[in-house]
Amino acid sequence: MKEIWRKYLGERMPRYTSYPSALHFDRSVTAADYAEKIDEIGLYEPISLYVHVPFCRQLCWYCGCNMQVENYYSRARGYVDTIIREIEITGRKLNGRGQPTSVHFGGGTPNYLLGDDLGEIVGAIEGAIGLTDSVDLAIELDPRILRDDDVHHLTSIGFNRFSLGVQDFDPTVQSAINRLQSFELIEACVSDIRAAGVDDLSFDILYGLPHQSEQSFDDTIDKAISLAPDRISVFGYAHLPDSLPRQRLIDEATLPGTQLRGVLSELADQKLVDAGYHRIGFDHYAKPDNPLAKAAIEHRLKRNFQGFTDAAASALIGFGPSAISFVDGFYAQNEKGFVDYRQRVEHGELPIARGLQRTKRESVIAAAISELLCNMKTNISAVLRSAAPGDAIRMCSSLERLEADGIIQWNGDAISIADEAYALARVVAAAIDPYSQPQIEHATAV
Ligand code: SF4
Repeated sequence: MKEIWRKYLGERMPRYTSYPSALHFDRSVTAADYAEKIDEIGLYEPISLYVHVPFCRQLCWYCGCNMQVENYYSRARGYVDTIIREIEITGRKLNGRGQPTSVHFGGGTPNYLLGDDLGEIVGAIEGAIGLTDSVDLAIELDPRILRDDDVHHLTSIGFNRFSLGVQDFDPTVQSAINRLQSFELIEACVSDIRAAGVDDLSFDILYGLPHQSEQSFDDTIDKAISLAPDRISVFGYAHLPDSLPRQRLIDEATLPGTQLRGVLSELADQKLVDAGYHRIGFDHYAKPDNPLAKAAIEHRLKRNFQGFTDAAASALIGFGPSAISFVDGFYAQNEKGFVDYRQRVEHGELPIARGLQRTKRESVIAAAISELLCNMKTNISAVLRSAAPGDAIRMCSSLERLEADGIIQWNGDAISIADEAYALARVVAAAIDPYSQPQIEHATAV
């Protein structure tokens, strides 16, 4: 990365998995508003589903998810009953509308649940909403608690996309984040998953973790490549101990600085691209024959709460505490707390706590940001035309500074991100995002 670009690396940019981000949701959005939006979904309209499983066996100290450590399986079993009820309530509202093309189980740790219980949830979706044979069923797995015949059980239910939380292979790093898992354990999981015929396996890797060095991370990436996953996501760890008290368990003095974080991210990129992976957006990599790489090449890539996706659907329906649904510019988020969530569902309600209806202006910005992050270019004439006068001036001046630093080029009304500046895609997105103007202005002033 060019030296002049490093000043942008220290700024915290939104992940832009939604626009505006969930920080802007408020309680004016109600379950009745969401029900009205569900009514607008077409009969055969493709939809994506997300199922949140909030339980984990043990706390990873870096974790930013809505989860709880649960020692009693009976509570998890009770949760299965509640989420099935929520699926049935939603199914009645949908009343035959919408056709799921993908279902993603995330968490927490979805494989905390026994295979039979996961199968029951999938069966409830099939009964209440409908599933075709071509649906993609994806699940995030914690390799440390994968039981002997879990993979076989999951594939027999229909799961065909698996994601393993790897993070880092170095024992010192693992110890500093309270997540010990040997290379041999991951290797055995991969072998089980491949033996079950799965051809879409993803790893999550994190840079910016305590004690990571260039050498240790180089080794982690080599080990990941040696196991040949079909996709790899390389996320930057966000240390936010004020809003996530559990992260105070991490010794801040051991965290890599901004400079090293940039080096680690570049190192991963170079090694993965050299190993034949196709770069997707700014933090995903996929083998060229993987559906995600094909979607990127064919400009069908989208961005949703899981990151980059090849899912065709634009509407998303989420189940479980804190899950977010999205229908035509409207976000609705479920109650975050388990007790509130369960009470609402037991009363037969959609458990919506807050959300947001995007304005036209926000929809224009959302489309441009999505295009930027997925395709590294966008036409911004509509953004500038619809922006408030002060915002338009600030956007132009931020973009001018990014152009002067060689991060973007103009072509008529379109801007494109320089190939080597892919990692700064969110910085460019922030330049056209009125909510993030303070950050971009600060970065450019450093
Ligand atoms: S397994 Fe995942 S969700 Fe659970 S604590 Fe660790 S990082 Fe968080």
